[in-house]
Amino acid sequence: MSMELANKVALVTGGSRGIGRAASIALGQAGAKIAVNYMHDDAAAQATLSKIEEVGGGGAIYQADVADESAVQGMIKDIEQALGPIDILVTSAGIMSAQHHSKLTLENYREIMTTNVDGTFIPIMAVKDGMIARGGGSIVCIASVAGLRARPTMIPYSVSKAAVIGLTRSFAAALGPQIRVNGVAPGLIQTDMTEAMQSSAKEAMKEEAFLKRLGVPEDISQAVLFLASDRASFVSGQTFVVDGGRVTIP
Ligand code: NAP
Repeated sequence: MSMELANKVALVTGGSRGIGRAASIALGQAGAKIAVNYMHDDAAAQATLSKIEEVGGGGAIYQADVADESAVQGMIKDIEQALGPIDILVTSAGIMSAQHHSKLTLENYREIMTTNVDGTFIPIMAVKDGMIARGGGSIVCIASVAGLRARPTMIPYSVSKAAVIGLTRSFAAALGPQIRVNGVAPGLIQTDMTEAMQSSAKEAMKEEAFLKRLGVPEDISQAVLFLASDRASFVSGQTFVVDGGRVTIP
């Protein structure tokens, strides 16, 4: 087993399911102690921790709403007492909804922006000063190709992910040279989030992709592992598209 992240502590927001779970397992397998954050699903968080342990890693689970500043600050205090100072932050917590613009409401827009944008901003703000004081750290934000292309039936989600790409770029500029901040923009990945999508829409996306398949969470976790680790030591401010080749289509 590669132990390139031995002695590191990683907080993965939304680490209990989907992409966050795969990232937690990959970072745990590489030797980092993982703080698995979640919001509602305690059993899923426990299952992720068991999977991390199965691959030889360790950590603990932490319930907190990423959009609640005092909850996030409290969680980080608890993590640092139990596991040690945070070296790696992965922001994967997120929500998505789709609707025709005639059905769009300000409430829906704010709900998505709060979780996806505040929920990226708040954890970064809460870990950055500690990382700087200790001389370094690495942050990986999960964006989306929806932040790079028009999404007429997912306007709040698309705007929120464009904002995540903006946060990634601007925090990278502000927090260098001590902290590298990068993003991953996944294409369609098979998780609970995309479970309800029509199979005809999924089939069309598969056909558009150069690689002729949909993504799995492990496709994204390998990119997260690369960006979080010293292998990406000269990479900062980038959002790395991992979508099987769809976004390059004009
Ligand atoms: P998922 O399977 O629905 O998992 C979402 C995760 O986020 C869960 O662990 C959930 O915890 C957590 N979460 C949601 N709201 C939270 C909050 N307020 N505070 C803390 N945790 C919260 O979704 P996914 O597909 O893995 O997506 C992960 C990230 O990738 C999201 O940012 C998403 O926008 C992005 N993404 C996904 C795709 C895709 O095709 N799946 C594509 C591009 C980008 P609980 O279960 O406890 O609520």
